[in-house]
Amino acid sequence: MNLKRLAGLDILSEKYAYAYDPQAGYVAASRVADQWVPTTCGYCSVGCGMLVGVKDGRAVAVRGNQLHAVNRGKLCPKGLSEHHTLDAPGRARHPLLRKGGRLERVTWEEALGAMTERIGAIQARYGDGALGVISTGQLTTEEFYTLGKLVQLGFGTNNYDGNTTLCMASAVSGYKRSFGSDGPPGCYDDLARADVILLIGANIADNHPILCQRLLENPNATLIVADPRVTKTAMMSDVYLPLRPRSDIALLNGIAHILIRDGLFDRDYVERHTTGFDELKEFAAGWPPERVAEITGLEEELIERVAMLYGRAKAAFIGWTMGVNHSTQGTETVNAINNLALLTGHIGRAGASPFSITGQCNAMGTREAGFASSLPGYRKFENPADREELAALWKVAPERIPSQRGLAYPDIIEAALGKRIRALWIIATNPMVSFPNHEVLKQALETLEFLVVQDGFHPTPTSELADLVLPAAIWGEKEGTYTNSERRVSKVNGVVDPPGEARPDFDIFLDLAGRLGEREELFPGWQTPRDAFEEWRRVSAGRMCDYSGMTWEAIEESGGLQWGGERLYEDGHFATSDGKAKLFCVDWQPFPEQPSRDYPFILNTGRTVEHWHTRTKTGVVPILDGMSPRAWLEMNPRDARRLGLKPHDRVSVVSARSRVDAVELRVTEIVGPGQVFMPFHFVETNSNCVTQSAYDPISREPNFKQSAVKVIKTEAADSGVNRWKI
Ligand code: SF4
Repeated sequence: MNLKRLAGLDILSEKYAYAYDPQAGYVAASRVADQWVPTTCGYCSVGCGMLVGVKDGRAVAVRGNQLHAVNRGKLCPKGLSEHHTLDAPGRARHPLLRKGGRLERVTWEEALGAMTERIGAIQARYGDGALGVISTGQLTTEEFYTLGKLVQLGFGTNNYDGNTTLCMASAVSGYKRSFGSDGPPGCYDDLARADVILLIGANIADNHPILCQRLLENPNATLIVADPRVTKTAMMSDVYLPLRPRSDIALLNGIAHILIRDGLFDRDYVERHTTGFDELKEFAAGWPPERVAEITGLEEELIERVAMLYGRAKAAFIGWTMGVNHSTQGTETVNAINNLALLTGHIGRAGASPFSITGQCNAMGTREAGFASSLPGYRKFENPADREELAALWKVAPERIPSQRGLAYPDIIEAALGKRIRALWIIATNPMVSFPNHEVLKQALETLEFLVVQDGFHPTPTSELADLVLPAAIWGEKEGTYTNSERRVSKVNGVVDPPGEARPDFDIFLDLAGRLGEREELFPGWQTPRDAFEEWRRVSAGRMCDYSGMTWEAIEESGGLQWGGERLYEDGHFATSDGKAKLFCVDWQPFPEQPSRDYPFILNTGRTVEHWHTRTKTGVVPILDGMSPRAWLEMNPRDARRLGLKPHDRVSVVSARSRVDAVELRVTEIVGPGQVFMPFHFVETNSNCVTQSAYDPISREPNFKQSAVKVIKTEAADSGVNRWKI
């Protein structure tokens, strides 16, 4: 080829040839697919339907599925390039076992034999609870269901959680406290049907971009965005509330105050469907607009206006994401949001919902079936009837079902540090980048006697530390279902085989169950994920997340089915013992790490549209990496001037714990004076080196935001301090 080119005979005509594809029209000939396979995006919880083009056994293109109810043919940059993750460099291909300090290639037989043997020895010595398991929101529901059973009944430990606790545990806990059960009450269509939309700490333009389509379908709605940062979503708003960091509870209490003061609440709904109104009325009286203005930094008139808009709306929607959840008061903030919906009856009707937009493609699946924060089917650990029902369905003794939840993710890490957890199995997540206060996490992982990392990619900063690496299939290589934020169950299909010896997580779980001697009891006759789905249909029957009427075929044909229908709580009956939702009095507290003389800035962290979590996937897709190759720090021009810093300077962000060096400075009004912002995706400049170990006492979700930091110019000698070394 090179010779031909040198001789002027090859002008890359083959490479640049185009041809006609019946799905896509004229495209590069190399991307004309032999077949298009329908599936669901494996990144975020929006749950877009897509078609993957396959040519000669390779995925060569992705297109939005025009017929899918969620995205109607559109995809964001991540979805559009998702097929590139399948044959990207850095895929885990072979099991690796640490021998003499080095990870060496071994057979599956040796790998899984070593895993059960080492974990068995540790459990025999220190008890079953010495094994901790941290999973993800990236597996299929069939895999979550299988894994939960395997971990809790097979390995006999309840110290099991997912990285979903880093993301939306506060929404789960908040829903449970207010409504008696987890489960987002509304749907995406509510965004198109509300007349007032309030987004709190939710930058959907970057993080859930396809949802913006629903906003565009509803040009007459008033969009209110509350965010300390002028995000892309804030730029779309009709009313922007630049509230001070973590003052949202004060704002929500202030709105409740005005609604009650001016009689803008639905007395009939409150009386029939809620408890706690008298207490809330008395409590909210203490939140007049002047007090709210003082805490939030917002004008009193603006607070009054927003309360009027919400209170007078025919149908009002409140959406939130990490700006609410990533907080030591995340659960309570969700309760304060739910208060507004309950006071006004803006729930269970078209356009009216308090709606948590979840994070990962199947975070909902692990909530429904995963056996981590609740028993499968939103059954409660502490409810004997729930345990007995489940035991009967599984034909096991009720005593085998744990009567309480085990350690949550941060507590598993702390227990590893304290040597109460000795073995840890991490599945499809990368805590070395995603967990707060990196130094503590690193120390905890290094303290373990045995660390197993099961992932589609290797090396990752976490798999580097493993004693055993299990190569797993990823999106596009396996079959099952995902549930999106609006409770829509969509089908996921394999389009290519996993690379090398990598196996679907489902197969790995069944193999391990066999080695534990539990396969026939826990998974009788199971061979494929469809067997797990069929059992899950029976186990979820009659529960809120009832799959009993669904089949894989019906899900596929319909483009996704919502459990619970379009909306929950349409009849005003809630999942509490008295059928009524609870109103909560939520006191505002200042965030835990206040800025000081030494650390004068408040660091906010977040995401950008091009990347996904820790970039394990998007970092290896050249087009995404090229669009956003490195982290940056946003700083207000006033602060930059005061510090003598210029755009593109390399700066160090330093907290009381550690530092991140050589971050590119962006001088911008997007952040207010005294605040700085940094994306959390980048291992090379890991924002979690400076974040803190502070957690919501109810949900255990970390307070990733509002860390006190100082910013200094990076000296040449400091640059590269946080480089990830392979
Ligand atoms: S919005 Fe989310 S689900 Fe849709 S294509 Fe983008 S990453 Fe995938």
